[in-house]
Amino acid sequence: MTGPENSSQFFLIVTIAGILVLAVIVYLTIVLSSKEDTIKKMEEAHQRLMRSFNELDEQAKLIVRTDLELNKAQEELDKRLNGINALQRTSRQISQALNEGEIFQKLSPTLFEELGFALALVVTFDGSGMRKRINIGFAENSIPSLLSKLEKDDHLKSALKERHAFSSNNTSRKSKEKITAIFDIEHFILAPILTQNGTIGFVFVGNRYTAPAVTQGDEELIGILASQIGQSIENAVLFEQVFHSSQELELKVKERTKQLAQALEQVEEINQKKSEFISAVSHELRTPLTSIKGYAAILIAGKIGEIPDTVKERLAKINSHSDNLVSLINNLLDIARIESGRVEMKFALHPVKPMVDNVADLLTPQIKDKDIKLIVTVPDDIKEVYVDISQAERVFINLLSNAIKFTPKSGTITIAALPEINMGFVTFEVTDTGIGIPAEDLKKLFNEFYRVDNEINQNVKGTGLGLTLAKNIVEAHHGKIDVKSKVGVGTTFSFTLPLSAEIFANAKIVKTTI
Ligand code: ADP
Repeated sequence: MTGPENSSQFFLIVTIAGILVLAVIVYLTIVLSSKEDTIKKMEEAHQRLMRSFNELDEQAKLIVRTDLELNKAQEELDKRLNGINALQRTSRQISQALNEGEIFQKLSPTLFEELGFALALVVTFDGSGMRKRINIGFAENSIPSLLSKLEKDDHLKSALKERHAFSSNNTSRKSKEKITAIFDIEHFILAPILTQNGTIGFVFVGNRYTAPAVTQGDEELIGILASQIGQSIENAVLFEQVFHSSQELELKVKERTKQLAQALEQVEEINQKKSEFISAVSHELRTPLTSIKGYAAILIAGKIGEIPDTVKERLAKINSHSDNLVSLINNLLDIARIESGRVEMKFALHPVKPMVDNVADLLTPQIKDKDIKLIVTVPDDIKEVYVDISQAERVFINLLSNAIKFTPKSGTITIAALPEINMGFVTFEVTDTGIGIPAEDLKKLFNEFYRVDNEINQNVKGTGLGLTLAKNIVEAHHGKIDVKSKVGVGTTFSFTLPLSAEIFANAKIVKTTI
């Protein structure tokens, strides 16, 4: 090989080597720089991780803190729930209490414990001083001095006066210290017991130094308890008042009932005496009357000698007046006898239709005289009634003859047995289209001798005994008699008679009052 060849070869080799070295350098530079990048990225990632970790740590701490707070809140909630339950239970009990003593009995240490307080003092007072109190946890012998100190405390006094709760939570440090000194407690609530008349006491609760401070929730619960006590006391007072007045009323009613019973006894006694008197007098009158009538009859018949017509006329008047008197006396006697139960009633089952027809027949002449239309309706299914037939007929006769008497010519009279049976009694009605009876007279119509002051009564004689007799007879059958009337339109007398002996025996005896 030649020298220039060698040198070019050498040059080539050096160049190649140089290129190689350069290539290696470039490669290394590239590799190194990419590693640096990676390291940088890794550092950044590391920092991010650290940040995330720190954040996580913060969050974990927050979670732990929140958990603790939640637990505390849960505890607080449980406590409150317990308190509310205890309060609800007690509220129910005290609202049923009938007096203040009973209300205080229900305020147990458990209630205050469940409300979260170891100490309690509940006091009610009135103008003359303390009325009731309960003490839970305070030394009993310290209570009087505690109360007198309380009375002197301005904050407490104004809280009671202004009707708001007062607690270690919402008062100044100074006043708190004062209460703390009086009661030897750190936490307390005082709630006034209120009624419509103002403050009548207070509920004071507290805890010694280690207990947690009172919260607003505690204040609310004690406030509710105090107002519930106030309301229950108010209700109990009202109840006592109502109870007393009802007892007074009961006494008055008893007294009055006794007086009325005595009065009734007296009335019955007087009635009895009246009946006896009427009976006696009637008897005494009947005998001479019968002789008067007898002598008059003998004289009229001329058995003692002929007498002039003028004397005969007068004798006839004596006779007719005597008849009237005998009928009046007989009626009086019957009323007295039936009233006192001295008439022996001959009860038996009697067919209704013939009974009513018989009465109608009996009065047909008077009905015809006045051209009155008589309607008799007896439903087919009403067959018999359990009556003393002659007495029952007297009721019909009295009512029908009155109807005839007080109905003008060409009027209508209806005698009807109603189709409906009422408690085993048949109702009969005698209805007329007569002059009617004023409302104010209806009340007295069944009284003895009562007659309405009207034109007919002024001209036609009557005794005012017919309706009394009818009433007595109906009542002797355990039935009722009633009257409805309209002046100028007509009158309906209704009365009831029993269907059977059993109905008669079981029916309550009713006295007709209009
Ligand atoms: P008296 O018919 O003898 O007066 P009552 O006791 O039978 O006695 O009747 C009392 C009074 O009741 C009668 O005077 C009459 O005023 C009134 N009265 C009774 N029935 C009727 C009637 N159907 N219509 C109008 N008034 C009547």
